[in-house]
This record gives sequence, structure tokens and C-alpha cells, in this order.
Amino acid sequence: MLIKMFDLIIVGAGLYGSVLAYRAKERGLRVLVLEKRTHVGGNVRDEQREGINVHCYGPHIFHTKYDEVWHFAERFISFNHFRYMPLARYKECLYNLPFNMHTFYQLYGVQTPEEAKIRLEHERLEEGITEPHNLEEKAISLVGRTLYERLIKGYTEKQWGCKATELPSFIIERLPVRFTYDNNYFNDPYQGIPVEGYTLWINKMLDGVEVRLGVDFLHDKWYWLSQCKRLVYSGSVDALYDYQLGELAYRSLRFEDTLYDMENVQGCAVINETDITVPYTRSIEHKHFNFGRQPCSIVTREYPQEWDRTKEAFYPVDNESNRNLYLRYKELNSRMNPKISLGGRLGDYRYYNMDEVIKKALEFELIKKIL
Ligand code: UDP
Repeated sequence: MLIKMFDLIIVGAGLYGSVLAYRAKERGLRVLVLEKRTHVGGNVRDEQREGINVHCYGPHIFHTKYDEVWHFAERFISFNHFRYMPLARYKECLYNLPFNMHTFYQLYGVQTPEEAKIRLEHERLEEGITEPHNLEEKAISLVGRTLYERLIKGYTEKQWGCKATELPSFIIERLPVRFTYDNNYFNDPYQGIPVEGYTLWINKMLDGVEVRLGVDFLHDKWYWLSQCKRLVYSGSVDALYDYQLGELAYRSLRFEDTLYDMENVQGCAVINETDITVPYTRSIEHKHFNFGRQPCSIVTREYPQEWDRTKEAFYPVDNESNRNLYLRYKELNSRMNPKISLGGRLGDYRYYNMDEVIKKALEFELIKKIL
């Protein structure tokens, strides 16, 4: 029998692949990581520019409610006390996010939770929505039409490239709605930004693991499969099967960076641009994630764009028809290549946050699947 070179090959050196690689190494498995980009870290990557830690692929704020995920992360890095409190700009006005008493006061003039609830109930009744069927109906029933039209509709339709009525409601349920004056975007008890950056965290997890950069697994799929007992693939499953059942839908992003010769440009880490006529969704002033005091600043504007096969897939468009197509690919995978496991945001085709990706990687039964 041929001796396999590796117990496990992991395709993709993003967060999912790197956590798995660390765990495989910890268990003494012979593991190889293949990464088609020329760097590790996937979309959580950050890098130093002008002394500022720049999030290369959009803002990443680490937050979790899972003790085991937080403690796992803390093995490698420490977090600062950053709390995500973005603003939303609509026309000439700034509003607080997530949707809380500040926002309700700014939009509806209400000052107490009771007044806010009465106002929202009134809006709900006017709309006649009893059972929300899509993102638009869900959003209106949660926060009222005025807030929906100013802070949700434009942003959502830019980000996803379709009508809010065509999107599932769970997307908007990611954002808290609260009746307290609390601008912290997340409800999770643990939150922060890695003091020395995400890339260092990834590098620490991959320390001692063989990583080959600039290698596109799909070019030599059969060769790599012959080299391992088990393979974990964290890329897009439709690409893995050469799109034979059709393309899954994704959204892509484009980033424009501007270097400013001034210390503080916008006064906060992120401003969401919720007006549909502004072509970008967010402007990110990176230094605020780390309370930076450099004399210059870097601001990145994030433009959503159509995905095609030449572009990076950032978000799965997880609606019913795509989910069904994904499940057909998953079934094809277990039939054709039972030794390939799928995982991560793309492999699972799920709108995961970072902590969910880590949780999944920690739950992956490595040894059982390999022996
Ligand atoms: N969203 C919105 N207005 C905002 C921020 C978010 O309507 O100012 C909606 C939008 O549909 C988005 C979803 O809420 O896709 C989830 O937002 P989140 O901040 O979780 O997006 P991410 O940080 O993952 O890009």
C-alpha cells in the first residue's frame, strides 16, 4: 500500500484552516496547508502600513459569547478593550448603531424605552406585518419604516446587490435592537482587537506547520488527494466541482485606501454609508481599532461588487435556492470524495462570524475522521 505523505492536507490558510492546522499539529499529525494567495490569514489578514495596523479585507472586530473560543484565542494573543460603536451616515446626518435608544431618539424624537416601544408598535400596526417573510418586512417590524428606509434599505441593497425583499430575514437579525442607550454593536461578553494584529495570531497558530503559499489546490486536485489520508477544503465548493451544478451566489468587495496627512480623519473606526447614492458601504479609519496616535491616518472605503470567478468571494448569499444548490454540492462531495471535508465561511456556505469559524474548527473531530 502507498504510504501517504500527510495525514491531513488543509486547503486555505484563513482562520478556519489555521485553527485546524494548529490542532492537527498539537495532536502530532503530519499536516500540510495549501494556500493559493501569497500570504496566510485569508480575509482576517492585517498588515502594518505607516505604523498603522490595516485590516486588509474589511473591518474585523473579534467578539464572542463562547468561553472556549475566547480562551483558545488568548493562548496566542491578547486583546485590547476596543468596543465597536460605528456610526451610520444618511444624507447629512449621523446616527448611532446598532439600533438602540440613541438611534430611536435621533430618528423618532423619543426619549424613554416606553415611548420608543409605543412608536414602533404604531409603525408595525400601520404596516400590517404580522409574520415577516423577508429582510425588509423583518426590519420594518423590528425598527419601523423610517429607520428602515434611512439606515437599512440602502446599505443592504448596496451590500447584497438585490432588493431587501429578496433577502432572508436572518441577515438583519445579526444586529441587536435594544431599548437602552448602548452603542456597543455586539451583545457578546468578550470583545476586542488583537493588540499585535490578526496576522501574528495566524502565524502563531501556523508555527511549525508546513505551509505552501501560492499553490492553487484546484490545479492539482488529484495529486494532492493522493498525498493525504484526509483533506479539509475551506474554499468554495462550486469551484471544487468546476461549477458542474451551477454557480453559487457570492458578494465580493473592492477596497480603496487613502493615506491622509492628518492625525484623525473621521473620529471613529467605522462609518456606515446607508444612502444608496453613496457607492461605498463603509469607511474604515484603521488606527482607531488600536487607539493609534500616528501623525497620519489611513482610511479604506469598502465598495460592494458583483462576484465573478475572477474575484474573491466574501459573502455567501445564503437564501433558499442557494442553500439547496449548496446541499446538492455537499452531497456530490460526500459521494465523489468522501475523504474531503468542507469547512469555514466558504466551505460551509454560511455567513459566519470569526468566532463561529473557530468554534467549528475546534469541534471538528480531527483524529476520528483521519483514522
Ligand atoms: N445593515 C444595515 N445597515 C447598517 C449595517 C448593517 O442595513 O448600517 C444590515 C445589512 O443588511 C447587513 C446586515 O445588516 O448585511 C449585517 O450587518 P453586519 O454589520 O453584521 O455586516 P458585516 O460586518 O458582516 O459586513
